[in-house]
Amino acid sequence: MNQNSAPRNRDGIEQEQFLTILSREEALARFESALFPRPVAHEHRPLADALGRALTEDATAPIDVPPFDRSNVDGFAVRAADLAGASEAAPVRLKLNDEVIACGVAPARPVLSGTATTIATGGPLPRGADAVVMVEHTQPAGARAIEVRRAASPGQFVSYAGSDIARGEAVLRAGSTIGSREIGMLAACGIARVPVARRPRVAVISTGDELVQPGASLRPAAIYDSNGAIVAAAINENGGEAVFYGAVADDERALEAAMRKALAESDMLALSGGTSKGAGDVSHRIVNRLGKPGIVAHGVALKPGKPLCLAVCDGKPVVILPGFPTSAMFTFHDMIVPVLRRMAGLPPRTDAKVSATVPVRIASELGRTEFVMVSLVGGADGLIAYPTSKGSGAITSFAQADGFLRIDALADQMPAGTHAEVTLFTPHVRVPDLVIVGSHCTGLDLVTAPLARAGLSVRSIAVGSLGGLAAAKRGECDLAPIHLFDDKTETYNTPFLSGGLELVPGYRRMQGIVFRKGDARFEGLSAEEAVRAALADPACIMVNRNQGAGTRILIDRLLGGARPDGYFNQPRSHNAVAAAVAQHRADWGMTIAPVAQAAGLGFIPFAEEHYDFALVTARRDRPAVQAFLQSLASDESRTALTEAGFRPA
Ligand code: AMP
Ligand code: MG
Repeated sequence: MNQNSAPRNRDGIEQEQFLTILSREEALARFESALFPRPVAHEHRPLADALGRALTEDATAPIDVPPFDRSNVDGFAVRAADLAGASEAAPVRLKLNDEVIACGVAPARPVLSGTATTIATGGPLPRGADAVVMVEHTQPAGARAIEVRRAASPGQFVSYAGSDIARGEAVLRAGSTIGSREIGMLAACGIARVPVARRPRVAVISTGDELVQPGASLRPAAIYDSNGAIVAAAINENGGEAVFYGAVADDERALEAAMRKALAESDMLALSGGTSKGAGDVSHRIVNRLGKPGIVAHGVALKPGKPLCLAVCDGKPVVILPGFPTSAMFTFHDMIVPVLRRMAGLPPRTDAKVSATVPVRIASELGRTEFVMVSLVGGADGLIAYPTSKGSGAITSFAQADGFLRIDALADQMPAGTHAEVTLFTPHVRVPDLVIVGSHCTGLDLVTAPLARAGLSVRSIAVGSLGGLAAAKRGECDLAPIHLFDDKTETYNTPFLSGGLELVPGYRRMQGIVFRKGDARFEGLSAEEAVRAALADPACIMVNRNQGAGTRILIDRLLGGARPDGYFNQPRSHNAVAAAVAQHRADWGMTIAPVAQAAGLGFIPFAEEHYDFALVTARRDRPAVQAFLQSLASDESRTALTEAGFRPA
């Protein structure tokens, strides 16, 4: 089946469309029915290599465990009948046989009536003996005899042969996953090799002209290949054996050659990128030439992850994950892991789930199953799940999230206050000790560093000053970092506080004009003069900031109503402004001194901004809050802040 077609749009540029978008359930069903049922390939592996694999046949015990009647204590092997009348008042004297049964010593003499044999824990019971008495309940009686002060029942302190595992018993069933305990049982039976499912060999290829491998230096317009590493690791985590074939450029012939070689050498092929049907996206076209039936789903109603392409080529699964790392990972876990685990003979993955309240409304696209990554923090009535998504292009949202929630395809939103089920990325949630929600700043990391060293976990969620204040008012965080200027009072932050919140002075950040060092248009000028010079030069391009940012207010004040070229380029961070200027996409902008300093740019100071903390008073006495306040006031943090270009309050 080929769902691709190439209608021409108005500009006459060939543009392919996703003509058939399948629901995630339909796409998965088509993929699975093209692949299964199929026998699980197996091999015999030494026990040490069997860890994490699925056993493909029942393992039966070739021997009894223990293989002989075994003493459980250090003491004496006896005949219980001899001790029938033994007590503290009337100890029974037994003659000691002339042998000591240590572990690994096979007994040679019988225990006859009236005698006992010294035996260690783990020693085999001699002929005639039917019980063991503990050394603690005896005392020496002359050279070669003991006195026993207690009666013994037959079988006392004896483990009988086969009582643990009986010869012929199935110790492990086919399909069970082999962990350390299973390995222990097999070893106890003397089994050295077991039939296990072969780990499917999965070839991993990244595609894109822009990709550079980690470790190499980044050329202009290039990015590091993160999918290659994360997809390979996720394959290994789910029973596969990833083989990374590197990143291949968007060249149809080169890519086809690489894909054919990788598929021939593997059981499965996992590509990322090039599936979006944009210019240069060629991988999905190649897939249909690799074998039958070819593509079974291209375009799935998932968000993120719509461009996912699933194919089966002559019995082997071929998947093209979307290029955006977050999309690649969600689709991998949701759609590829079930198939991979089945090929590896493993049971479906059991994800740990918790229930949490969503504090804000989350909009969702109707018609697509949406996954939203969340950070968990502890609230007054249980867990709170903060959406952390920065869009499907962001990799950090994955690392900072604890898990994700799912919004049904038929819902257009998840209302604030919803109790949602959160699937955890790792089985254990650790609720952070300190929760900071608000405007993020690199200086904040310097203040929280000592807390991390003291073993306190800090979760910092960047939602901007106003979002932080709202979270603090709802009591969802300990501290909200804010930098809000009030026009009326011409002061920072204090006017924005309300009941239950108090201001903790933080530090000052110098805002100013950034430009490339040596740019004669700006060197040596004041901020006002620099902006006048920029406005006078029609070739000069600025970079602005988003509406609502404190920095934007300052820029507008300097521009006095002018809207030069670049005014509508409005990135949302201090760092993006510096990057635009450093990379010649703009000639000037406004950012904070530490960012300009780190980017090696020229800087003209303009106005100092107050970056303070709105503290939820009810949380002031919590140990982590106290630790934060101490760190903020400490010489160590103040020095670190000063060195980075901030001015502690
Ligand atoms: P594509 O699906 O190839 O159009 O890629 C979509 C986006 O994901 C682009 O921004 C790519 O640069 C990015 N991307 C593609 N492959 C990778 C990769 N292996 N690692 C990181 N980002 C990638
Ligand atoms: Mg690409």
